[in-house]
Amino acid sequence: MNRLLDTPITYLPKVGPKRAQLLEKELGVRTFEDLLWQLPYRYIDKTVFHKIGQLSENETEVQVRGVLRRVEVLGRGSGKRLSATLRDSSGSIELVWFRGIDWFKDRLMVGMEYVVYGRLQRFNNRWNIAHPEIEAVGRNTRPAATLEPVYPSSEKLNQAGIDQKLRRQMSKALLEKLSEKDLPENLPSYLIEKLKLPSRFSAFRQIHFPTDTQQLRWAQARLKFEELFLHQLRLLQIKRIRKARNKGFVFEKVGEYFHRFYSEKLPFELTSAQKRVIKEIRRDLGSGRQMNRLLQGDVGSGKTIVALMVMLLAVDNGFQAALMAPTEILARQHYQSLSKYLSGLGIKMAFLSGSVKGRQRKQILQALQNNELHFIIGTHALLEEPVQFYNFGLAVIDEQHRFGVAQRARLWKKNPKGLPHVLVMTATPIPRTLAMTLYGDLDTSVIDELPPGRKPIKTIHWTEHHRLRLFGFLQREIARGRQVYVVYPLIEKSEKLDLLNLEQGIEAMSRAFPPPKYAIAVVHGRMKAADKEREMQRFAKGEADILVATTVIEVGVDVPNASVMVIENAERFGLSQLHQLRGRVGRGAEQSFCILMSGNKLSQDSKKRLQTMVSTQDGFKIAEVDLELRGPGDIEGTRQSGLLDFRIANIASDQHILQTARHLAIKILERDPQLKKPEHLPLQQYLQSVAGKIKGWGQIS
Ligand code: ADP
Ligand code: MG
Repeated sequence: MNRLLDTPITYLPKVGPKRAQLLEKELGVRTFEDLLWQLPYRYIDKTVFHKIGQLSENETEVQVRGVLRRVEVLGRGSGKRLSATLRDSSGSIELVWFRGIDWFKDRLMVGMEYVVYGRLQRFNNRWNIAHPEIEAVGRNTRPAATLEPVYPSSEKLNQAGIDQKLRRQMSKALLEKLSEKDLPENLPSYLIEKLKLPSRFSAFRQIHFPTDTQQLRWAQARLKFEELFLHQLRLLQIKRIRKARNKGFVFEKVGEYFHRFYSEKLPFELTSAQKRVIKEIRRDLGSGRQMNRLLQGDVGSGKTIVALMVMLLAVDNGFQAALMAPTEILARQHYQSLSKYLSGLGIKMAFLSGSVKGRQRKQILQALQNNELHFIIGTHALLEEPVQFYNFGLAVIDEQHRFGVAQRARLWKKNPKGLPHVLVMTATPIPRTLAMTLYGDLDTSVIDELPPGRKPIKTIHWTEHHRLRLFGFLQREIARGRQVYVVYPLIEKSEKLDLLNLEQGIEAMSRAFPPPKYAIAVVHGRMKAADKEREMQRFAKGEADILVATTVIEVGVDVPNASVMVIENAERFGLSQLHQLRGRVGRGAEQSFCILMSGNKLSQDSKKRLQTMVSTQDGFKIAEVDLELRGPGDIEGTRQSGLLDFRIANIASDQHILQTARHLAIKILERDPQLKKPEHLPLQQYLQSVAGKIKGWGQIS
């Protein structure tokens, strides 16, 4: 089909081959369609004129209107510039040009009225605008007062004369060439009516050249909805097709391993949430379909036990199971806690990561392939080619939003007889909308209950003024037999300073908590593994009262007697990190405390983070605030995956639209699973056109 939208942009006026090449290189714009999707990232409100006499620091970019009073060339050499004065009834402002001096000098006319727009600067106690946009006000032609689009740009484009003015001209020319039929509707008309959305065509026109703010919002909402709705539809369809197609091994038996663990080893009663989730998983495992399930739960909600019991089910049914974690420390921690829980049960397991090498590695790989191992626990090293199973039946993936869908899919290939079941666990809760987008193709289970007997952790925000009070408080807690974590940030970017900070902190602690009365253990990222282990052990065994550490303990130790978590420079940690760290305490019967130490001067965001920590312990709530503050682009591990690269939607600020989109997509697929009804034809066509093309999802379709 020959579409006007596929026309190269060289067919637009003023876009020759050179400029076209540059636009493609800088922005990836080659066709009309690409250009259409280059949406303005902001708008200049040209409906407002500022009074020159009332300009203030609050304005960054201003539009003024006045008569040109003076135009002259000043200075010489590199200081040479064209200077002009623009005056309105309230005052005057200087306009300056450092480039194109002669060109402007010839054209600007003293005594004429101009509309001027640009970035306001203060120089020698006077306002000025350098290189303003300037346009003469003709006798009859008042400049159109509108919202003017500002497009993504680059230095190179500007240098080649592809400035905002030309970009606007290009958009304008493009929209003049297009008509409704070039942008056919892709949403069913009943949805458009129900949601009162503008057509695609008018939405694009409004977004490039809005008539007013309200119409602009509607137009944006239309495209955001379209984008999120089609994405959800796609994910739900992937899920549906996979369910229909992907047979799964049936784990029908609850066998000896599971029973013996449950009756002999399980050291506590499962919470009702844990029981419910295990039931949900068992239903999947008995269904004959491959399980693809996301398990969410707050820090400390007991996901590990659930994973372990599901892994035992695999073994009971003659399959091997893998548990994969995003970091070596976390993987080792899992290995250790599983070994502890299962001791004496006869489960054979091994640990594998990049650091397991040589003979040992060879032996593990052999054993795995010969069915001499029930479990393998490790890092993404498990995904590698040489890792082959005898009969792989279940993969549990502990994620920190790090494993891409493509990586997940690599695990599937490790059993030629069929697809292993997959259980994905998130290390910390993620907001609903993020889960919908990242894991929208998975079924979801949530452990929404903490094990009983956990007392809320008292969280306090203190500054340097409270230092002595802090030490006094810690001394009292230690006197009562408690243990204390003190955590410092250690970030690669500022490593030297951070290490110095840590050193000084340790010194101060050693003075306030001198031996032999007190013992301090120290663990940080720069230490040798064996030293780290020794220090951790001293703390775990209760030989040390205080563990001073960098974030290495973020995911790691489980010491129920440690009831105080002090976080130094707390303002430098992200919310989910703070939440993870706080989750290290509150595991025993004692009242626990988390003390956030920070400087006095805090940015708005830091304040909000610390306030959030003080006011709530609900990991899901904290995750929501985190998403709000950081935006989806900064959520760990999602950037490179491209999964959240929407063209216009933003899942942090467009949560409502996303929820509506998901809800409607589910309803439509319920009524018409194959999208065969005539009114769904456009949807069907869309899904076919993108089959396998949604970023990051291709491999699983
Ligand atoms: P998560 O991985 O969800 O953060 P863990 O699985 O590490 O949490 O469990 C946290 C702690 O709670 C562990 O010490 C674990 O033994 C304990 N735990 C788990 N489930 C229960 C339960 N039902 N009752 C009491 N303690 C539990
Ligand atoms: Mg865990």
